[in-house]
Amino acid sequence: MKKHNFSAGPCILPQEVFKEASQAVLDFNDSGLSILEISHRSKDFVDVMDEARSLALELLGLEGKGYKVLFLQGGASTQFLMTAYNLLQSKAGYINTGSWSDKAIKEAKFFGEVVEVASSKDANYNYIPKGYDVPEDLDYLHCTSNNTIFGTQIKDFPKTNAPLVCDMSSDIFSRQLDFSKFSLIYAGAQKNMGPAGTTLVVIKEEILGKIERQIPSMLDYKVHISKSSMFNTPPVFPVYTSMLTLRWLKKLGGIAAIEEENEKKANLIYSEIELNPLFKGFAAKEDRSTMNATFSLVDGDLKETFDAMWKEAGISGVNGHRSVGGYRASMYNAMTMEGVASLVDVMSDLERKA
Ligand SMILES: *Cc1c(COP(=O)(O)O)cnc(C)c1O
Repeated sequence: MKKHNFSAGPCILPQEVFKEASQAVLDFNDSGLSILEISHRSKDFVDVMDEARSLALELLGLEGKGYKVLFLQGGASTQFLMTAYNLLQSKAGYINTGSWSDKAIKEAKFFGEVVEVASSKDANYNYIPKGYDVPEDLDYLHCTSNNTIFGTQIKDFPKTNAPLVCDMSSDIFSRQLDFSKFSLIYAGAQKNMGPAGTTLVVIKEEILGKIERQIPSMLDYKVHISKSSMFNTPPVFPVYTSMLTLRWLKKLGGIAAIEEENEKKANLIYSEIELNPLFKGFAAKEDRSTMNATFSLVDGDLKETFDAMWKEAGISGVNGHRSVGGYRASMYNAMTMEGVASLVDVMSDLERKA
């Protein structure tokens, strides 16, 4: 039986995407060949890459606004250094809202001065800092829109005159934003878009070419743009599967439609966390993520019972990250309302039993 998968990443994808992707592994487009054995320069695959790129721009509302879309390798973690390599001449600002931001800061420091403009490290990142001043003289300002591990999400993005760079790995395509506020968005595919192995980069071309250092080809956005993500062999299968997920999202009604679903799912679990005296939430209420809900049992002695109950209900992947403990329910786009309801039912069953 298919489980309700709350894993933080790699994670759930739409069931129809799994089916279509597995069919393409056997026979892609009735070509008598697997998607895994065709040339990345064949028309069939070039069409896939083109469609993936244009779907990403269309869904984000960024068509005709000077943005390029890349599908790269090396995960979001490679973007931590690539953003700095390409954009950091003298000084960059970072908002530190979690372990991923912290890692991005560490990498950027290889390339220039890094100012931690604001941080919530003092409270184990259970909130999003607010009311801070952003220096005027930054090459760019970097933020993380959704903190996968801690379950917080930026609702109001920082205002700056510098290019805004955002790691959207765990909430890309989940909510409506004015994406044109961002000069560079990156996201590892495996949280809300596809399998592990590719990273989406959406970049406003005009911010490139402003620094003096030489950049090795594989780490140079301009090289990848000039070769349409085909400078070297792209991650063919992850790009194909991401494209299928973007098609699925478009058919559903795009980001506006999925945002409504995501809010309903989040409301369902957060109201249970609030009303059920056996549980407490981790993140500050106003900063709670619609993608990753973090919570724990008030009485740790109930752990064994609760764990047995959710396993029995066909639920998987709700253990919290080791740096927070407790539980984390990741509710990405493909998670259904029914899936979230099954977890909420187990939580209220526990209250009835305890
Ligand atoms: C998972 C995650 C990363 C790391 O992604 P990799 O593709 O494993 O390098 C970075 N940032 C955020 C917000 C994440 O959730």
